[in-house]
This record gives sequence, C-alpha cells and structure tokens, in this order.
Amino acid sequence: MAHWLYRKGVKSTEQMTNLPASLREELTKTAALTRSEAIRESKSSDGTTKFLLRLSDGETIESVLLPYPDRVSVCISTQVGCSVGCAFCATADGGFLRNLTPGEVIDQVLTLQEKAEARVSHVVLMGMGEPLLNLPNVLKAIHILNDEVGISMRRITLSTVGITPAIRKLAELDMQITLAVSLHAPNDELRKKLIPYAAKFPLNDLMSACRNYANTTKRRVTFEYLLIAGVNDSPHHALELSKLLARIMCHVNLIPYNEVAGKPFKKPSRKAIEDFRRVLEQNGIEVTQRIERGEDVSAACGQLKRRNA
Ligand code: SAH
Ligand code: SF4
Repeated sequence: MAHWLYRKGVKSTEQMTNLPASLREELTKTAALTRSEAIRESKSSDGTTKFLLRLSDGETIESVLLPYPDRVSVCISTQVGCSVGCAFCATADGGFLRNLTPGEVIDQVLTLQEKAEARVSHVVLMGMGEPLLNLPNVLKAIHILNDEVGISMRRITLSTVGITPAIRKLAELDMQITLAVSLHAPNDELRKKLIPYAAKFPLNDLMSACRNYANTTKRRVTFEYLLIAGVNDSPHHALELSKLLARIMCHVNLIPYNEVAGKPFKKPSRKAIEDFRRVLEQNGIEVTQRIERGEDVSAACGQLKRRNA
C-alpha cells in the first residue's frame, strides 16, 4: 500500500490493482484517500510555479515548485494560516486556522511532483505556518517523505521562527535535516518588534538551543535574516549579528524583504545588502543570499497567503 500511495501516487484505493478486490472495496469504505486539488497555478518567468491547493475540508494552502537545472525543490506549508503573527509576513494576516495532517504535508510533495513530471529532490518546510507548532504531524511527514517517498533527510530543510523547547527536542531526535532559524534581528528588543511572539523565547536561550542542535547533529544551522530597509539592515546590526553567532557552527542566509501590500516595510538597496554581507564575512561568518525567484507571482517564501487573489 505504501508503494501505491507514495511511489505511484494513486488517488483512490481502487487503483491499488494488485490488492484483492474485496480488500479494495473494504478500504474504499473505511479508509478513502483524500488528496488535494490544485485549483489555481501561477507560473513565473523563471519557471517557479505557485499552486493553490484545496484540501478535503475546502480550506486552501499554497505550495511552490522550484525547478533548477540539477534538482527539483518544493516549498510546502505545514499549517492553514499561522498563529505567530510576524509583523512583516503575509501569512500572519489571516490568523491560524488549523494544523495540516501528515498526509496533507506529504500530499503537497506528491502533487507538485506530478505537476513537475519529475521527482522532487529537495523539500523546504518554509511555506505557510510554523512547523514546530505542529511538530508531531511534521515529524511523521518527514519520516514518511524519507522512508517511502525517498527524499534524503539532508535534503529536507525545516524553517522555524525559533520555538526553543521544540529545537531542543529536535536535537534529541538527532535527525539529519537542516534546521533554519528565522532570526531577522541581532537583539531581543528589535526582534520582539518584528516577531512579537519571540518575547517568549529570548535570544540567549534560543542561541544555546541552536548551538546544542549543531553540536548534537553535527549539522550547521542556517540562520535566515530578512533584510528590511532602515529597520535591521545597517552595518551596526551586521556587527551585532556577527557577535551573536560567533560561537555557533552556522551560516547566514540573507533574504531581501519581499514587499507585501499594506505593510510598511521596504526592501533595502543593493548597496545596503552588499555592505551588510561584507561586515558578516569580515567577521568570519559564512553568508549565502537567497536567489529571488518567482517574485512576479508572489511565490517567495513568506508571501504565501490564504485565498490569494
Ligand atoms: N514559520 C516559519 C516558516 C515559514 S516562513 C518561519 O517563520 O521560519 C518562511 C520564511 O519566510 C521565514 O524566514 C520568514 O521570516 C520569511 N518571510 C516572511 N515574510 C517574508 C517576506 N515578505 N519576504 C521575505 N521573506 C519573508
Ligand atoms: Fe508564521 Fe513564519 Fe509568517 Fe512568522 S514568518 S507569521 S512564523 S509563517
């Protein structure tokens, strides 16, 4: 059954043709499959495609397909909406509706794989929702993606706003996934303004959980840093960030802000981004910069929004 579900991607138990007819009938009655339906898709000029998927209860989520010459990556959601309420994020506006089930998380990968007509190689849990606030379902989905769909743990990235106790729990599980922590500010005062929820998780403690994660799993932690013009993008912030990360096995992923209608935040100039990057590098921090894709269809991570027009 796992082969039919996860390798063949059947849409109904009727399609599991090597099972006895009586069993298929029984399964159809008691364990009917529910798969999402892609009700809208918008393709960017660079090939990035954003899908609006309708779930079995009529709620909608978004998932993004990112085809590259050497791999196929998908950015998927873990919740319908999000309760964290970051000031800059489009998903925050609709509030939280519900957690996705493990099946709904996996379904996104299978559905986008069908659309791409190619095997998905990389999965980023960076769409709508906070994965560590839906940890049991997300863990179950990750294990099935690894065991049954065949996606290597090292090619799965989980992005979190930084729920410290859940990061400690993840470290205990010692999985080989990449942990990406959305930092966005080098001190508590500024971070609380951007992520009011972060008040519950002071940076000191969060950093110690990240250090523990890196030491236990021997995997470098990625710190995502959204650059917002005039808010957190000065060389002074970069220096403070370098000090904060000095003793952690990590790298920083700089993300220029994608402007969201109705929010006061702006994207920094190219020069501000380069200056920020230089300070980090001069202080021995490894930096990558997110390649901006799918901007014309608002498919950038964090721009996904329920009932998007
Ligand atoms: N809840 C998780 C994962 C989903 S958000 C988290 O916060 O990490 C994925 C990433 O997109 C986060 O780093 C988030 O801060 C970022 N993001 C949110 N809104 C954005 C925007 N408008 N432009 C660029 N990145 C954004
Ligand atoms: Fe939720 Fe992440 Fe958006 Fe914050 S950035 S509101 S945690 S989805």
